[in-house]
Amino acid sequence: MNTLEEISELIIDCRNCKLSTTRTHAVPGIGSKKAKIIFIGEAPGKKEDERGEPFIGAAGKYLNQLLEIAGLERKNVFITNIVKCRPPSNRDPLLSEIAACSDYLTSQINVINPRVIVTLGSYSLKHWLPNESISNIHGSLVHINNLSIFPMYHPAAALYRGNLRQIIEDDYKKLGTYITNLTNLTNLTKNIY
Ligand code: URA
Repeated sequence: MNTLEEISELIIDCRNCKLSTTRTHAVPGIGSKKAKIIFIGEAPGKKEDERGEPFIGAAGKYLNQLLEIAGLERKNVFITNIVKCRPPSNRDPLLSEIAACSDYLTSQINVINPRVIVTLGSYSLKHWLPNESISNIHGSLVHINNLSIFPMYHPAAALYRGNLRQIIEDDYKKLGTYITNLTNLTNLTKNIY
């Protein structure tokens, strides 16, 4: 299995789809290789493309606040996207672009082996649950193929639909409670064995 750094290098050199001809930088992801939680967004925007780092624009600033609500620090989680290169003019990613990137995401998940995958927005949700809608399933935990998925609205949604803000923040409180319970369980297990 490749290391996280090796996967990042493969992404940086990737020519699997046409987005490689318009990007400034590919955006492999950032965070801890020991992360218990992975956050998966849609695709890099302008700022992310310029810097090669995910979620550093307006949506990223709000994501940082949401992490704080859940009691998390950016450096302790891993943050990436379904598609690793910016679609021109921030258009929606094509199915072919998602497919071209999907082995990278699978490798990142396999190497990190997180306890929870937080999907941000519907592209990320539909990768695992193609028939689900975010409005129906946000803020709940779903087990699928040995993975625990916690679907969330995309943080950018709150920036153009202010009425979602409270709902999103309540979902992050729920995530925080879930993680605390997981941690307590892990500590208990360590004490017993
Ligand atoms: N939106 C995303 O989905 N990902 C980013 O990295 C930035 C904005």
